[in-house]
Amino acid sequence: MHELSLVQNLLQQLHELAEEHRKTRVLTVYMCIGPFSGVVIDSFEFGFETLAKESQLTSEAVLIIENPDAGYRCCGCNTVIKHKHKQKTDQCPNCSETLLIPEGGDELILSRVEME
Ligand SMILES: [Zn+2]
Repeated sequence: MHELSLVQNLLQQLHELAEEHRKTRVLTVYMCIGPFSGVVIDSFEFGFETLAKESQLTSEAVLIIENPDAGYRCCGCNTVIKHKHKQKTDQCPNCSETLLIPEGGDELILSRVEME
């Protein structure tokens, strides 16, 4: 499972951050995961719940996943078509152009951590 190695990377990052800031407990982890990042959020959450328990640092940590907006830019009229879900937009609603370039939504970012 691809998500499991992403969670391992995240936990590694949290350990380094905690060490750097001399913290002993991670309280809340905010992740920004876009609809085009290729990450299955359910699997990511499951992986986090499973792996975070194995370390004292993260055993109580709460994971909060934020979904940024994603969109397409139309090559015909430059309109940005925004949507929140992973559904393919086939045509520009403005000029009916079908050549649309994905814009944003591929984020996989640790956006904020609360530690003590
Ligand atoms: Zn257009």
